[in-house]
Amino acid sequence: MWRSNPLLHEKSSPNVWFMSKSLLPLPAKKFFNNMKHIAFIFILFFFSITYLVAQALPPLTVNIDCSEAPETQEWAENAALVAKQQYPFLIAALDEEGYQPSDSMTMVFKHMEEIAYASNGRIVISAEWITKHPDDVGMVVHELIHILQAYRHHVPGWVTEGIADYLRFFFYERNGERTCRVNPEKAKYTDSYRTTGAFFDWIVRTKDAGFIKRLNAACRNGKYSNDLFREYTGMTVDELWAGFIDSLKQRQM
Ligand SMILES: [Zn+2]
Repeated sequence: MWRSNPLLHEKSSPNVWFMSKSLLPLPAKKFFNNMKHIAFIFILFFFSITYLVAQALPPLTVNIDCSEAPETQEWAENAALVAKQQYPFLIAALDEEGYQPSDSMTMVFKHMEEIAYASNGRIVISAEWITKHPDDVGMVVHELIHILQAYRHHVPGWVTEGIADYLRFFFYERNGERTCRVNPEKAKYTDSYRTTGAFFDWIVRTKDAGFIKRLNAACRNGKYSNDLFREYTGMTVDELWAGFIDSLKQRQM
């Protein structure tokens, strides 16, 4: 006959779990005591490793210059926090042997027609744009990626922007399927930005998971050429594009 353990119903005692163990045989008691020690050691180990990893990651220093547009200060501080949070993940996404990314950036807010651009560790942002589009923090992530790319050799613009938008929409915002719609009848892989970003996402998913890291390293080292697509995937860039367009058309059917 099953009888409930009265000790388990002793509401007044905060140590019900431990008292119930008095009914256990000795080896089981030892096991539970050891479990407490193991759990403690595991938690200590986990926090130590997390702390060490966090310490090992270089932090990003963000300077903010809102002197020309003081109304952007609050937005700038929030965007700086996002940039700092995303920095280690973006580095991890671009990391290749010998990669020493920049560890600082300056955000400057100006009244200008352009939305934003990155140059020499600075991101210059239109005050009007962020007033009209306060949710567009992803734009700062896009420009931060340009600072991390730091290409000193010629790289086609569509490749540079394709990598930045791939990381922004498929890696940071994780909404590329919705935001990077490609028209299979009209698009070209050199269309840049979201179109090239979506093309790169397809290559990463279907051909070469390390494609972005390898492509970025080649761009950084002055070794970019269209032949890299065949080297990494076994297919030319035109064959890959045809495969990508086919996949879009099949999805529409
Ligand atoms: Zn860009």
